[in-house]
Amino acid sequence: MPPGTGRHVAIIGAGAIGVISAIEALRDGHRVTLIESAEPGGTQAASYGNAGWLGSHSVIPPAGPGLWKAVPGLLMDPLGPLAIRWSYLPKAMPWLARYLWSGWTRAKVEETARALRLLLNDAPVLHKVLAEEAGLSGLIQCQGLLHVYPSRAGFEAEKLAWEIRHHVGVRWIELEDQDLRRREPDLDPRYCCGVLVEEGGHCRDPGAYVGGLARHAQALGAQVVAAKAEGFDIRGGRLRSVVTDRGEVACDAAVIAAGIHSKALCASLGDRLPLATERGYHVVIEGAEVGPRCAMMADRIGVSWMRGGLRAAGQVEIAAVDAAPDWRRADILRDGLTALFPALAPNIRKADVRLWMGHRPSMPDGRPCIGRSRATPDIVYAFGHGHVGLAGSARTGRLVAQLLSGRETEIPLAPFDPRRYL
Ligand SMILES: Cc1cc2nc3c(=O)[nH]c(=O)nc-3n(C[C@H](O)[C@H](O)[C@H](O)COP(=O)(O)OP(=O)(O)OC[C@H]3O[C@@H](n4cnc5c(N)ncnc54)[C@H](O)[C@@H]3O)c2cc1C
Repeated sequence: MPPGTGRHVAIIGAGAIGVISAIEALRDGHRVTLIESAEPGGTQAASYGNAGWLGSHSVIPPAGPGLWKAVPGLLMDPLGPLAIRWSYLPKAMPWLARYLWSGWTRAKVEETARALRLLLNDAPVLHKVLAEEAGLSGLIQCQGLLHVYPSRAGFEAEKLAWEIRHHVGVRWIELEDQDLRRREPDLDPRYCCGVLVEEGGHCRDPGAYVGGLARHAQALGAQVVAAKAEGFDIRGGRLRSVVTDRGEVACDAAVIAAGIHSKALCASLGDRLPLATERGYHVVIEGAEVGPRCAMMADRIGVSWMRGGLRAAGQVEIAAVDAAPDWRRADILRDGLTALFPALAPNIRKADVRLWMGHRPSMPDGRPCIGRSRATPDIVYAFGHGHVGLAGSARTGRLVAQLLSGRETEIPLAPFDPRRYL
């Protein structure tokens, strides 16, 4: 489609998914208006505070076989790495039941892993190219991702996940004690086993990356409207406008990329999708002087150097979107950091520690929704990326543009079809 002859597309939400969808839609010749109620890539967005992993191998959904056996323990331990707030349990039950069911068998997990592999494949390279184009190349590093374990048994305990990763084409290098020590001299010697996934990459400031991509979209011609989208004007099955708290944005296509808040917008169209928040936290130690050489995952904590300091991100808390943060979870991340890098402890007392809580927009099966609304083919859904939305945003943006232009999508969209839950 030649430039300028496309549709006028309103994209709701300027997180990673929205801004990259905007760039790709502009590339396809569409006119784009980005509707964002806060700052693109600001602290309200999951895209701001994540661990920065561009894990093309992050294909294993959160729920796996046998997780149901752990549920009583999860309920009893409010500060465990995966916790469910008692008061929220009745509301969370339908989502939790689907979550457990989606990982009930190995076959189900493999099906999701195959789909996510297609979505995430080449994620670091796709982001590198985007960042270079937008003048942000220093923010994307393609130097691999490392998983570390305190024993060989720790690695063996995740055998199923690594077997499935292998089946879908992920390759890695296993590091024994000495190799690991050489690569990671600050790591506590108790960690004696590592898995290096060389194809992995890392973003050194996800918030700045998304903010920079939003400015790039503007430079390419997108208009940014500071408003909250509240609904849609659809007549005769065709979209006329997005209704916002600041008036209507006339358009002939729209993309819902509003992260966790996508649920209400879809419900206004009659599509009641089981999107829930898996709340997560981070701590950033400004001025930290020791830490990992390679972005790493240990004890379910993602640790990486950011431009602003050393960041530890993780924790999954099933609670209401508007419930107050439980900052004890951030303390757990901070203590996890000192357990990994003991020499950091005196540093932490001196340093400025910044805390953050955000919402992973999660579907029960760990797969996003990418596809058309039932109300009208003019509205495209692009949300629900859960734990892998930063990595998955690059290809999702391309898929959104392909849907808007009526082109064949570069990967099959059936596994991500919102109708699987309608
Ligand atoms: C602790 C933690 C660690 C993570 N680590 C990683 C990681 O290492 N790698 C990875 O790939 N993923 C990671 N994730 C997941 C990733 O951050 C998310 O999947 C991703 O950021 C979701 O992007 P999004 O654009 O869909 O949503 P968001 O980034 O939340 O953006 C949505 C935007 O929509 C706006 N908005 C909402 N409602 C409206 C409305 N009605 N009108 C207008 N605007 C609206 C919001 O203000 C926001 O800016 C992590 C998440 C957390 C919480």
